[in-house]
Amino acid sequence: MTKSHHKLIIIGSGPAAWTAAIYAARAELKPLVLAGEQSGGQLMLTTKVENYPGFADGVMGQDLMAAMRQQAEKLGVEIIDQNATALSVIGSQFSVVSSGSTGFQSIGLEPANRQPTNRKQKTLPDFAWTKSRRAGENGKQITAKAVILATGASAITLKLPGEDRLMGRGVGTCAVCDAPFYKGKDTVFIIGGGDSAIEEAMEISKFASNIIVLVRKDSMRASPIMQKRIELAQNIKIWYRSEAIELLGDKRLEKVKVNKDGIIAEFSADGLFYAIGHKPATEWLKGSGVEVDKNGYISTQSSVLGSPPAGAWSASDWRAGRLSDLGRSVVGQSVTETDELKTGKLESENRKQRTDNLFPTMTSISGIFAAGDCVDFRYRQAIVAAGFGAMAALDCQRWLESQ
Ligand SMILES: Cc1cc2nc3c(=O)[nH]c(=O)nc-3n(C[C@H](O)[C@H](O)[C@H](O)COP(=O)(O)OP(=O)(O)OC[C@H]3O[C@@H](n4cnc5c(N)ncnc54)[C@H](O)[C@@H]3O)c2cc1C
Repeated sequence: MTKSHHKLIIIGSGPAAWTAAIYAARAELKPLVLAGEQSGGQLMLTTKVENYPGFADGVMGQDLMAAMRQQAEKLGVEIIDQNATALSVIGSQFSVVSSGSTGFQSIGLEPANRQPTNRKQKTLPDFAWTKSRRAGENGKQITAKAVILATGASAITLKLPGEDRLMGRGVGTCAVCDAPFYKGKDTVFIIGGGDSAIEEAMEISKFASNIIVLVRKDSMRASPIMQKRIELAQNIKIWYRSEAIELLGDKRLEKVKVNKDGIIAEFSADGLFYAIGHKPATEWLKGSGVEVDKNGYISTQSSVLGSPPAGAWSASDWRAGRLSDLGRSVVGQSVTETDELKTGKLESENRKQRTDNLFPTMTSISGIFAAGDCVDFRYRQAIVAAGFGAMAALDCQRWLESQ
């Protein structure tokens, strides 16, 4: 295993990681990006992205990610296409171990099926299906003064027959992202019974004529208020005790095979979206001390997502640079009455908290920051992840300067 030392390691290769890398490189932090063996993130799974600013005609997801990586490379960012497998604290620095890779793996669409949105984009590198210049190297141990975690998330799917072939071709995991593509279309299926299934159904119902929500059980898990909303929608039907069992179509989704009350039938479909949850790529952080919530999302000090989750840490823990079981009295701005409060320590606690809030993207470990969909359980959009990446890089830069 080879060893190297850097000021900053960024882990991930989606919009959050590349934006953080671009900012960090321009701040002369000389970042190393551990991009993972499947570089490019979730946008590699989609076709045209129409809501990322700066592209009047939209941009292919893979081209956008290639452009971000190319921009980072041009600014001198060093990139290793390996997965981080462990993170630990060694004294005042961090150690990240990466796995050796036998070759760069592409994900998403094959080059032959890609439709560039304009002529200029043809000149972008097809990095996803060329061998990485660093691929094939053995595992590494990399140490750094600071780390930015931007490992993203993946939508949970049912791995139905036909899914791999039709993903991005009528089958998707983000109806909010793709809804306008279904303008004037006839039937779109949504799979799921929670709040997000309803949100996705409501969004797509503005564009397509018939929305069918497939719910496995007799009832939905969604909150009563959301269920009320869906009942009022004219063009949304809920099929209980119903499961999609196969996705049919050659180049695009054409039909969905559904088992409803034990009867199997095929239904014409223009689209199908999974809305059964997301899984942040944070399992590898187990044992690192980086705090995650019950769903695996990394907890940061404070964020645009709202109040810190229940059980978040206190300002004094931040000072100590680590989450402890003690002193969990200050959560966001709300304070429960404790001995410290009674003895007049509140003011100094608040003062500390104001200082610590300078680094909203910092995790439970001082010096480790997090950005994008591995933190964001709410918005899950590329532009939000990119913005988060910029925030993490700026926080990290200021934190390093303060050391
Ligand atoms: C099908 C689909 C269509 C979408 N369409 C749109 C859209 O039109 N507009 C929009 O704004 N958003 C869209 N989104 C959402 C958008 O893609 C995400 O919000 C965004 O990509 C999140 O960026 P990220 O950088 O946080 O993480 P990701 O894009 O998830 O990237 C994380 C990267 O980190 C890598 N990684 C994970 N673990 C490790 C590890 N241990 N070591 C090293 N690397 C690791 C992963 O391989 C991945 O490449 C879509 C998502 C999907 C799935």
